[in-house]
Amino acid sequence: MAHLIDGNAIAAQVRADVQAEVAAWTAAGHRPPYLAVVLVGDDPASASYVRGKTRDAAEVGILSDTLTYDARFSETELLDLIADLNADDGVDGILVQLPLPDHIDEQKVIYAIDPAKDVDGFHPASIGKLVLGQPGFQPATPAGIMEMLRRSGISPRGQHAVVVGRSNIVGKPMANLLLQKGVDATVTVCHSRTPDLPSMTRQADILVAAIGRAHFITADMVKPGAVVIDVGINRVEDATRPRGYRLVGDVDFEAVREKAGWITPVPGGVGPMTRAMLLRNTMLAARNRLERRAGSR
Ligand code: NDP
Repeated sequence: MAHLIDGNAIAAQVRADVQAEVAAWTAAGHRPPYLAVVLVGDDPASASYVRGKTRDAAEVGILSDTLTYDARFSETELLDLIADLNADDGVDGILVQLPLPDHIDEQKVIYAIDPAKDVDGFHPASIGKLVLGQPGFQPATPAGIMEMLRRSGISPRGQHAVVVGRSNIVGKPMANLLLQKGVDATVTVCHSRTPDLPSMTRQADILVAAIGRAHFITADMVKPGAVVIDVGINRVEDATRPRGYRLVGDVDFEAVREKAGWITPVPGGVGPMTRAMLLRNTMLAARNRLERRAGSR
């Protein structure tokens, strides 16, 4: 039976660390870090994610506001808003909740955010630094997974890591973080065009599933003793739940836990880590602001 990697407990440790950092920061006479969250449209899941993020921020002493606009908000209006937030010295981090309504070009919006305030780590400047192994904002989900591994005492060094999924926000940055010098995994990235996926996943000492398909990774696809990280969040119908559905991962948890060495649950695995890493990035953004100021003097 696999050891359970408890994302809730590890995220609580990260939050406590950020809280201590924020307390030291304000005790040194700085104003608290400030995060501007932009929510456009009426997607209930996005609204719920945003509520969670701002609640976490408040808990650790980070100030935040959610700027909410209905789905008629235009791309130009959003770009103007971002320009204002970029120019506002009172704003440390900017988070535009994705997905955006169809009439808004997400890439344009991501490019518009000042890289110094890019707490989601999606700007090409942040991704470029990540690939080059330079310090900067790292996308919260893969950074959270690295933190989970570290705090669970799991070293990727010399391990074969197989990442299933090549999205810009999870799969690609995940593969790059595992590949960093000092982390030293040997990395394989798989996707929907990979032939014979099970033969790849069975080679994984560390298997990261970021696919978006419920129970896709079955026990026969997993090497005995492997570390299995389940990024997926999928709704499956469940009449016994008040909402009529429940959330499951990309991994067939019950079967795979019998075979794996370590496993993350869904919910309570990668999700809470993602939220916690945003707080860390916001604290980093506040430090950036001070450095920029010192540099411009
Ligand atoms: P995307 O849809 O952007 O990417 C999915 C990836 O899975 C693609 O690269 C796709 O391949 C690959 N894929 C799809 N079907 C198959 C298949 N049959 N065999 C092999 N590969 C396949 O999703 P995201 O990366 O944004 O998210 C993945 C999952 O993680 C989702 O469930 C999402 O909700 C969840 N998520 C969870 C977060 C958390 O905090 N826990 C944060 C972000 C996402 P191809 O490129 O060829 O299409």
